[in-house]
Amino acid sequence: MSKVVSLQCLRCGTHCPADYRGTGCAKCTGELSSNLRAQYDPEQVRAWSFGSSAGRVRSLWQFADMLPVDAGDAVSLGEGGTPLLAAGNIGKQLGLDNLYVKDETRNPTQSYKDRVSTVAVSYARQLGAPVVATASSGNAGASLAAYAARAGMPCVVVSMKGAAGPILTQIRKLGAHLVVMDDKLQRWPLLAAAVERHNWFVTSPYSAPVVGSTPIGIEGYKTIAYEIFQDLGRAPDWMAMPVCYGDALSGIYQGFVDLKQAGVIRTIPRFVAAEAHGSLTQALDSGADTVAAAAVKFNSLAASVGAAQSAFQALQSLRNSNGVAVPVNNDGLVGMQESVAAQEGLFLELASVMPFIAVRQLREANIIGKNDLVVCLATASGLKDTDKSTADFDELPITALPVDDVLEDVVAVLNHQRSSVTAARLK
Ligand SMILES: [Zn+2]
Repeated sequence: MSKVVSLQCLRCGTHCPADYRGTGCAKCTGELSSNLRAQYDPEQVRAWSFGSSAGRVRSLWQFADMLPVDAGDAVSLGEGGTPLLAAGNIGKQLGLDNLYVKDETRNPTQSYKDRVSTVAVSYARQLGAPVVATASSGNAGASLAAYAARAGMPCVVVSMKGAAGPILTQIRKLGAHLVVMDDKLQRWPLLAAAVERHNWFVTSPYSAPVVGSTPIGIEGYKTIAYEIFQDLGRAPDWMAMPVCYGDALSGIYQGFVDLKQAGVIRTIPRFVAAEAHGSLTQALDSGADTVAAAAVKFNSLAASVGAAQSAFQALQSLRNSNGVAVPVNNDGLVGMQESVAAQEGLFLELASVMPFIAVRQLREANIIGKNDLVVCLATASGLKDTDKSTADFDELPITALPVDDVLEDVVAVLNHQRSSVTAARLK
């Protein structure tokens, strides 16, 4: 059975039973609401080994000792073990000598949410939950649908109007039951009622103010930190990622805490939260211990991180890591997506390029140094939100010219591009 011995509140430290099915700490309510963290037997924690990667399978489940479920009980599609790529070209553009991209688009459903789903669905199956469900019509919904299909469990995804088209297609093709609510505020009450009456296992948040996703699933994110350590042999100086409710931020932070407690790294990286609306920036600036909805709201193209309010778990990880939050609006988002794609061969969703913009700002302000080792987390594939990222595309002309003329035109365009690149390099 599960190795989790209890769930502990991130804010007040109160423990509750491992199989507690509420969302967040029962004592910390209202604006003080807080998520919980899975706790393990301290004897087992002392035995955790993060040694050499030699001989280990490149999979999230190589770290099963540090996860709630044993590898033999895992519902797996081959997630984790994603590459950490040196990104010298885009690094040069941002003024950084040591920029890396952790490419999470290589996961089974092309997003980092698979690290949550593999752990959460494995756990839900062990519990005997009749249904898994989420209020996400984004990457989390597509990922949960895939792992539920793999486990042979029914999956309900509660969506709203305006979700990204390609992801909705992914969810439907994976066989989940998709419910689109006219009033998006009714999504969480629907799931709360389903937990109460039908014992569904819900992976997303479903109560306000938001605390974050199921703490069991968030455990999966720790493996991102473990893998980065395996590849670098050290912790990066900076760890930058797009942030909404802060599940990944909180999970990856805990992963580095585990590595530090095991004595294999000396310092925890400073985290950079690239957020759309600025609720974390607001809280950090004011010294608040709670996260309020951002004062400025707009329609972010980065649909994956579109919520205007983050959660306490994100604020706490940022504070504890001496991190920073950077609001990133729509300006230059599509341009950065195309820069990263054309210069590094990485086609990332719009939310995934927000960290590059945040890091550029921090470099310009000399908060990040030229030689600092920076890892940007590429959370999901650019195929996920093409309906948002290609609005400015011209329709491609169809040519009826003879082959010789077409070839001549193409060569002329390539020569022009090459001479502009050379001119730019000589500058
Ligand atoms: Zn509490």
